[in-house]
Amino acid sequence: MPLLDIRTILVLTALSSLINAAVMIFIYRIAPLYPGLSRWALGNTTFAIGCVLVLARGQIPDLVSIIIANGFVMLGPALLQDGIHRFLTAPSPTRRSWGYPFISLSLLLLSYFTLVHDNLNARVIIVALTIFVVFSDNVWCLLRHAPPTLRLAAQFSTFAFAMTALTGLVRGVDAAMVPISDFFTLRSPQLVGFLGALTGNTFCTMGLAGLVVQRLLSDLKTSQQATQTSAQIAEQRVAALEAMSSTLAEILIERSQPQLLQSIVARAAILLKVESAELLIYDAGHEELTLAAHYPPDSAQAPRPHRPVVGAADYVARHHQSLLLNVYCAWPGALDATVTNGITAALDVPLLHGEQLVGVLGVRNHTNVRPFTNDDAWLLRLFAQQATIAILNAQLYATLVTDLLTGLNNRRHFFTLGQALLRQIQQDRQPLAVALLDVDYFKKVNDTYGHAVGDHVLTWIAAQCREHMPAEALLGRIGGEEFAVMLPGNTSERAWVQLEGLRQHIATTGVPTSLHDIHVTISAGVTECLPDLPQTLDQLLERADRMLYQAKHAGRNRVCAQPLDPEPILTTVVPT
Ligand code: GH3
Ligand code: MG
Ligand code: MG
Repeated sequence: MPLLDIRTILVLTALSSLINAAVMIFIYRIAPLYPGLSRWALGNTTFAIGCVLVLARGQIPDLVSIIIANGFVMLGPALLQDGIHRFLTAPSPTRRSWGYPFISLSLLLLSYFTLVHDNLNARVIIVALTIFVVFSDNVWCLLRHAPPTLRLAAQFSTFAFAMTALTGLVRGVDAAMVPISDFFTLRSPQLVGFLGALTGNTFCTMGLAGLVVQRLLSDLKTSQQATQTSAQIAEQRVAALEAMSSTLAEILIERSQPQLLQSIVARAAILLKVESAELLIYDAGHEELTLAAHYPPDSAQAPRPHRPVVGAADYVARHHQSLLLNVYCAWPGALDATVTNGITAALDVPLLHGEQLVGVLGVRNHTNVRPFTNDDAWLLRLFAQQATIAILNAQLYATLVTDLLTGLNNRRHFFTLGQALLRQIQQDRQPLAVALLDVDYFKKVNDTYGHAVGDHVLTWIAAQCREHMPAEALLGRIGGEEFAVMLPGNTSERAWVQLEGLRQHIATTGVPTSLHDIHVTISAGVTECLPDLPQTLDQLLERADRMLYQAKHAGRNRVCAQPLDPEPILTTVVPT
């Protein structure tokens, strides 16, 4: 008795198929995320059942042991093909196995050659050829659909399926040439066919398991890369937000408008690492944008934007939308390169308060080749939101501390700043002069020309004060037509000289109006803070008021000053 007979091989094949099915179920349990694995388990089980039914030939009806058994044997690899196709083409499988119609045809022929015309050779040829076709279909599917990431496992599987297909072919060709008397008689080509089924089936399972393992590894690598990338993005965002929050902390406490606006462009430029930046404020009354600050502030290379503003900023203002242009010159709205100082890339965002446009913030690159990203746009938009709040706060603050008519400090703010200045001066033991100015016969101006012209005169006088007083002077409108000036570092003599200059200028220059120039004069009283004497601002203003009274009393249009030594009082030589 030979070591291997067909029955033993069939038993081993059934067993190995069941083991393969168990392996597939095991893999399916640990990696249920991939489709097709359950088909592989089902395919192996079906094949095993087919083998067992074939073994029972002679003991059970031919219908079961021949037709149904071979149906199962042929269906097994077709189910494997179905699984492979699902595995490789998920999530959208495109084509079903064409093994199923082939198997149906084979079953019809098998029934004929079993029940009508008993022919063993014909049956072996039919089953062997069907096995060949179905396994070849598996090979085709692997060659066509396996991605490069699964190359190694796909190559192994292709080899395993091709080998199994060929053993089927060998068996079929043999059956076509040599008459077979008994199905279970062992002959060399038949042995090749059965052993091929036994080993090929196991190899195929190994290949399929390899496909799963390789896909798991590839997915793991991809997800590791994705995790790394998202960690990098998160780190970059945290760094950007940290940079922005420290920037904002400084911006949000800045109250002086010009400094705030300058600070905003400078910080936007640094935050976005760009070469230049500009901030335009929207004037709703005139419906136009005005350049409020740019970065770098005074560099020869700084862009010199032309007004009225057109181009990117104008587009952003009209559409209330950010604009990211990495090839600025390719944008249809781009300005001439000479106007834009060779902008290569621009990113502009609107400063919006609800629907209200406050301005436009733009950052630019000229020689830098780093393109702007969506992250840059996100960061600049976030920055712009906070900058808008800071600008609105500063605007609101300005209305609280500024006299709306003249633009000088209002009375309350003058006292706040004045007291701080006085404390500083007393600490530094520096001289400080305090003066009060009053427009002479102002009531007459109102009565003669009307209140509006009177307002215009007050505005003009405030402008003259600003122009003729030194930059460090603290100015305020503290009454209807009364102004106060604090001159740090000045004695009353020096202050007298300066105020006398202002008085003369006002007295000799007419206030331009739409009709004709109006001539007005001012009177002023000056006093000085005594270094060793503790004095309050009220006391100083009271003394200055006494000097003002003297100037008025002496005939107006003059400046009276009280120096350290109370006598003599400096006063203007009467200019009638
Ligand atoms: P004197 O030389 O003594 O200072 O005479 P005067 O007319 O300037 O002084 P008086 O105090 O009699 O009048 C001040 C006037 O200033 C009265 C008030 O109507 C006017 N005035 C106060 N505030 C304003 C203002 O905001 N606008 C205008 N147009 N007039 C104002
Ligand atoms: Mg007055
Ligand atoms: Mg007056």
